[in-house]
Amino acid sequence: MTGLVGQATAATTTAQPAPSAAPSSPAPSAPTTPAATPATPAPKPTKTSPTSVPIVKPKGRSGPAGSLLTTGSKGVALTFDDGPDPDLTPKLLKLLAKERVKATFCLVGTQARRHPDLVRAIAKGGHSFCNHSWNHDLKLGKRAHHAIRADLERTNAAIRAVVPDAKIRYMRAPGGNFTPALVKISAEMGMHSIYWKVDPRDWEQAETESNNSHRDKIIRSVKRNTRPGAIILSHDYAQPATIDAYRELIPWLRKRFHLVALT
Ligand SMILES: [Zn+2]
Repeated sequence: MTGLVGQATAATTTAQPAPSAAPSSPAPSAPTTPAATPATPAPKPTKTSPTSVPIVKPKGRSGPAGSLLTTGSKGVALTFDDGPDPDLTPKLLKLLAKERVKATFCLVGTQARRHPDLVRAIAKGGHSFCNHSWNHDLKLGKRAHHAIRADLERTNAAIRAVVPDAKIRYMRAPGGNFTPALVKISAEMGMHSIYWKVDPRDWEQAETESNNSHRDKIIRSVKRNTRPGAIILSHDYAQPATIDAYRELIPWLRKRFHLVALT
C-alpha cells in the first residue's frame, strides 16, 4: 500500500514504508528534553528475570555513524517501527502481553499524534519508546542541525503529550539513515541511536507473494539470523504478515533467548 523508498547505508540496508503524511501543524509545546545522561540501570522489578535492560555501548562493531546493532547484553530486543497503527499495534500489544514479552516501539510523531490511545497502551504494557522522527523523513540526518533537533523534539512532545513522564531513550533514523549529526543531536537529547542486527525485511513483500509466504519468509529470517544480543527490526505499521510471523516467533525466541525491552 505504501511506496517503498530506497536508501543505502550499510550491508543490512533496508527501505521502510513511510507513513502517509499528516497535515502539518505546530508541535505541542513540550518540556525541554534533558541533556544526555547515561542510561540508568533501573529496570522495573519483576518476579522472574528482568525483561528490560539498559543498553550498553558495545565494544565491537557498530552500525551507521556509530549507531547500535546490539543490546550490549545477551538479551535480544524486538523493535517495531513506524506505528502506532490502529489495526496492527493493538494485535501486537495483545500478543506481547499474552507472552509476557516487552518490546521497543519506534514511533513516528504523526502516528503518535493520531493515535494517543495506542501510545498510552504501549506505555501501559511496559514497553519502551523510541523516536522514529516526526514524519519518517528519510533525509532527516542530512538536514540542518536545528531542523533535526526540532523534528526529534516534536516527536518526543507528541509522545509526552499522552504519556508526560515517558522515557524516550532511543532514536532510530527512518530507513536506518543515521548521520553523525543525527546521532550527536540524539545523544544530546538523551537518546541512543539504534540500528539493528537482524532485518527480516518484513516491509518488502512482492505483489505476487502471498501473505502466508511473506510471513514464512520473516519467520525463517529471524530464526536463522538471531543471536544473543541482537536488535531485531520489524514493523507494526501496514505489515499484517509481521504480526502473524511473531505469533510463531515469540514463543520460539522465548525458548532460546532472553527477550528484553531497551530501557
Ligand atoms: Zn521506519
